[in-house]
Amino acid sequence: MSTTMAEVNRLLRKTAGLINNDNPSPFQGQFRVGVDLGTADIQTIVVDAAGKPLAGYMEWANVVRDGIVVDFFGASQIVREQVRRASEKLGIRIEQVTTSFPPGTDSRISTNVIEAAGLEVAGVIDEPSSVAKLLQLQHAAVVDIGGGTTGTAIIENGEVVRSMDDATGGRHISLVIAGHFGLPYEEAEEMKRASRDQALCGLVAPVIAKMADIVRSHIAGHKVPAIYLTGGSCALPGFLDVFAAEFPGIDVILPEHPLYLTPLAIATYSEAVQAPVHQQRQTQRQAQRQKVG
Ligand code: ATP
Repeated sequence: MSTTMAEVNRLLRKTAGLINNDNPSPFQGQFRVGVDLGTADIQTIVVDAAGKPLAGYMEWANVVRDGIVVDFFGASQIVREQVRRASEKLGIRIEQVTTSFPPGTDSRISTNVIEAAGLEVAGVIDEPSSVAKLLQLQHAAVVDIGGGTTGTAIIENGEVVRSMDDATGGRHISLVIAGHFGLPYEEAEEMKRASRDQALCGLVAPVIAKMADIVRSHIAGHKVPAIYLTGGSCALPGFLDVFAAEFPGIDVILPEHPLYLTPLAIATYSEAVQAPVHQQRQTQRQAQRQKVG
């Protein structure tokens, strides 16, 4: 495991501990904000200038489907509320955020939601590229298994050279669980997320094998020494063993709390480092003084 991965795992543990925690934690310094609009959830993460997580919000939400925002108003309301809670927790004013888009989709889908939430777009990046940058990958594949899709980005010499996406994700795992136990979809989804042992993994192994088939077709013809997993579906206990067995000769690396890796990477990517309100005022005063002088 590279030092970077160990460091990223530390940041992910920190992020997991912050999720939806409103306890006031006044912050003074520069910060960056990332918003990840997914098919299963919306997440907002705030990090400091060094990339250390300061606040994190996540809401399960059914507002994006097949790369399209099906509930535009709902999505922008969730973003607005998450940003409000983060601002209040940290005692800062958030005016700009960085957002992302799945490869092959129109980035305006995300930026329109951000603007409708009354925020400026500080930056936009495709999801696997953000992860590749955070992990400083040179030659590898980033595989994102989210709610609706399995996506792969191939990185060569530090750049994404190919990215693909196919429609099998955590939703399909939940559907198998629902069918097996005769449960409504929502209950199966909750059962899956609450699972702490490998009992469900055997049942859904064919879905995981299908995801591996998709990834195999994505990386065909490329020399991929390592696969870095991201996305909430990889958090299922036992997932890594079933998935990795499909790729002999390739290192398959699962971060801790893969649900938070992409949003953390988006927040860290931001180019614009914002200053909190009191600093912004100070900077304005300095500028005025310089003008006068
Ligand atoms: P997409 O990438 O398809 O747009 P998304 O970004 O919303 O979707 P993620 O937030 O990465 O996807 O992951 C959401 C998926 O992860 C859901 O299907 C959810 O059921 C699943 N998931 C979350 N936590 C767990 C867990 N502990 N065990 C298994 N699956 C989980």
